Amino acid sequence: MTTLTRTFSEADLRELVEVRRDLHMHPEIAFAEVRTSKLVADRLKAIGITPRTGVGKTGVLAMIEGTRPGRTVLLRADMDALPIHEENEVPYRSQSAGKMHACGHDCHTSILLGLAKHLAQHRDEIAGRVKLCFQPAEEIGGGANGMIADGALDDPKVDAAFGLHVWQDLDLGKVLITPGPFMAAVDEFTVTVTGKGAHAAQPQMGRDPVLCLAHLVTALQSIASRETDPLKEVVVSVTQFHAGSAFNIIPETAWINGTCRMFDTEIWEEMPERFERVVQGVADAYGCKATLDFNRHNRPTVNDPAMTRLARAAAVEVVGEANIVDGGRTMGGEDFSSFLHKVPGCFIAIGSRNTAKNLVYGHHHPKFDVDEACLEIGAEVLLRTMRRYLAS
Ligand SMILES: [Zn+2]
Ligand SMILES: [Zn+2]
Repeated sequence: MTTLTRTFSEADLRELVEVRRDLHMHPEIAFAEVRTSKLVADRLKAIGITPRTGVGKTGVLAMIEGTRPGRTVLLRADMDALPIHEENEVPYRSQSAGKMHACGHDCHTSILLGLAKHLAQHRDEIAGRVKLCFQPAEEIGGGANGMIADGALDDPKVDAAFGLHVWQDLDLGKVLITPGPFMAAVDEFTVTVTGKGAHAAQPQMGRDPVLCLAHLVTALQSIASRETDPLKEVVVSVTQFHAGSAFNIIPETAWINGTCRMFDTEIWEEMPERFERVVQGVADAYGCKATLDFNRHNRPTVNDPAMTRLARAAAVEVVGEANIVDGGRTMGGEDFSSFLHKVPGCFIAIGSRNTAKNLVYGHHHPKFDVDEACLEIGAEVLLRTMRRYLAS
């Protein structure tokens, strides 16, 4: 932290850690955030805010009115955990076998509750309104869209949206802010090929779906390497290949599954069509039938340049110019992209890795853990970004 006047007292900071650890001990996966959303709602009620619960299934929405008129800004935290068994030996270790806050959404929820408490006591800081969005199901996609469908951006209409993620690829004290495309679109594809089963010794009697899919795995790479502008990155990864039951049987069907990632919205929009053409073409060549199931988890996360400047200036106040990392991107995805598609805003990455404390494991790892000093930095950056937006 720079020499800024710190917003949060020692007691506030202890509470940020306590809430984070409480959530960490009681992880709930996508759309099962029942205890979590009750904890959020109870804490909001305790500070005099009446939340709307059950928004987009298990989400919570709340609003804090400022003392002066102005615009409406939405701040978002995701609440879901992952189906991973925690391997950390810490006092706040997950108490639910096979479930773990291995992405840091416990931190995000705690930070937003900390901001809620501060803002409820300082409504005079707000010219306009702050909508607090506690979102379910980020990890499987669908949580953000569910809340938007349930009115998170309406009544009153939201003018801008901000969110953050603790970031294990970045040391504590650093903040990563990228204008434009920051995180990739995430698509999932499944191709099922049906041929004709036969004895392995009589391939001429059948239509081999294994050979067909083997060619398809190769052909799909041409989408990334031959069809799209090489300056606009595309990743196609086939990650599952399922076929057969014995060494001497050509199976009737086989299937593959995988993901493709990209930053460019135009390429993203054309992707299902490109897949369909390659899949049907290859299937046809081998006399098989193919069905493509294309599941769009989330669109590219694109930060608005003007909103990014506001967030960057806020982060400079907190960590200093030397600790800002500009322009990093990741092929990982985020469903905050759904909010950024509807309103301008910025998604900010808050460094949380601490090598000296061996807090080095990445997101979704069973030993994932953050340096909790990132909670204060995240809260300060988000609060100051919001203030700058409402004052701009
Ligand atoms: Zn995650
Ligand atoms: Zn996450």
